[in-house]
Amino acid sequence: MIDTNEVDVDALVIGGGIAGLQSAIDLANQGFHVLVVEKQPSIGGKMIGLSKVFPTLDCCSCICTPRMAEAEHHPNIEIMTYSEVRQIHRKNRRFLVGIVKKPRYVDEDKCTGCRLCEYACNTDLPHEFEGNLGVRKAIYVPFTNAVPQVALLDIDNCILCGRCEKACPAGAIDFLQEPENVHVRARAVIVATGYEMIPANFKKEYGKGQLRNVLTALQMERLLAPHGPYGRVLRPSDGKEPDSIAFVQCAGSRDHSAGVPYCSRVCCMYAIKQAMLLSGSLPLADLTIYYMDIRAFGKGFEQFFQNAKAMGIEFVKAKVARIGEDEQQNPVVRVEIMEEDGRVEERTHDMVVLSLGLVPAWNPRQAGLAAPADDGFITCVQPSLAPCRTPEEGVFVAGAAAGPKDIPDSIVEAGAAALEAAAYLRGLSSAANPAKSHRHETVEPSTVAGEEQ
Ligand SMILES: Cc1cc2nc3c(=O)[nH]c(=O)nc-3n(C[C@H](O)[C@H](O)[C@H](O)COP(=O)(O)OP(=O)(O)OC[C@H]3O[C@@H](n4cnc5c(N)ncnc54)[C@H](O)[C@@H]3O)c2cc1C
Repeated sequence: MIDTNEVDVDALVIGGGIAGLQSAIDLANQGFHVLVVEKQPSIGGKMIGLSKVFPTLDCCSCICTPRMAEAEHHPNIEIMTYSEVRQIHRKNRRFLVGIVKKPRYVDEDKCTGCRLCEYACNTDLPHEFEGNLGVRKAIYVPFTNAVPQVALLDIDNCILCGRCEKACPAGAIDFLQEPENVHVRARAVIVATGYEMIPANFKKEYGKGQLRNVLTALQMERLLAPHGPYGRVLRPSDGKEPDSIAFVQCAGSRDHSAGVPYCSRVCCMYAIKQAMLLSGSLPLADLTIYYMDIRAFGKGFEQFFQNAKAMGIEFVKAKVARIGEDEQQNPVVRVEIMEEDGRVEERTHDMVVLSLGLVPAWNPRQAGLAAPADDGFITCVQPSLAPCRTPEEGVFVAGAAAGPKDIPDSIVEAGAAALEAAAYLRGLSSAANPAKSHRHETVEPSTVAGEEQ
């Protein structure tokens, strides 16, 4: 483990998804120096892996990539990818943050993202970014529009043949890289660590995640993306074009037994979106959504739902009790039709998509911050008046880290978190140096460094 010197910033943003990037850009535009720490090898969060967005059906990459590039090139933003926050503790008015930068085995300063290493590698592995539906090499650039465009060597699956090293024109491969401890001093922290889906094996009645043609909604996003693993929608088991696709709503959400008693908020709308996109790419396919309630609460959402019905997508008010498969690996769904006196039916589809419950990606307690709320998401002290403020002074929350929410809400909240953090930082500056006005010229961390050491 290598120890590096301390880095001093005004604000630390944990999580480089759309919310974290928006908060960082808003703070940086006001002159604050921001460090974004992202655990994945690229920034962009879940949004960069989505196909299109509801209810406008705009291309997700086209919206997210410019934000990623803006953050990458902003003079006041520093980004550490493939890094994790291990500890945060407060000393007077500063947070002392311990971060571990994981080794990429590729020198970030030398790598140009040319991918010659990737073309030289002979080892094929499931591609996590493609929901394990596509293939990647043991050394690879995380995805086409990844930021930074720097390769990453999966040392656990590398056979150390040295082909990548020979192919790299920049001499960037470094098999001896070690994890690096980075010590950061920040005056404010924004937690934007987002969500994860519960695992597809959460329920034995749904096939324990073993059924090849039962996908998660995030996997379906990749199949629908123009640059997805197959380039079009095909069944993973046999590469056949599906004629019948069903969506199972509330798979885990509003379900105490799955540990997600709350509504995950975005599933109704993304299932409708995916069904609409499927009816465009597979016009002859039957599309069914098994749902308990449709929660179309946002602007334009109800019209979006009505449009889906008008397009011929079948909405069946039903609870899915079990999912199995027949000899051709077609998923067989056992449903209780709620509108017809609880009649139970078995229906066969070519593919099934699970709208799995969303849970927090990070527990702040792991790093020594205040405990999360009962649902596991970050606690907000005044949800109705100041939804970005946490019980810990100087710590703010943005996006889905505070609870499941869609992209517009995440962006709005991220802007609010940046405003709260900016006001807090200005308050610290004027307390340390009352002669200075409230107007914030570019704040040098050293301006307030003298307040405590
Ligand atoms: C299948 C599906 C489809 C969707 N479709 C839509 C849609 O069409 N329209 C819409 O508005 N919304 C949609 N959403 C919701 C959308 O994904 C979220 O609103 C959005 O991603 C929230 O952004 P975020 O930045 O808060 O969280 P995330 O996107 O989850 O980003 C959080 C980031 O923090 C990082 N991170 C986590 N823990 C740590 C840690 N300890 N240290 C460092 N980094 C960390 C993660 O790696 C990630 O990059 C969809 C959701 C799903 C599941």
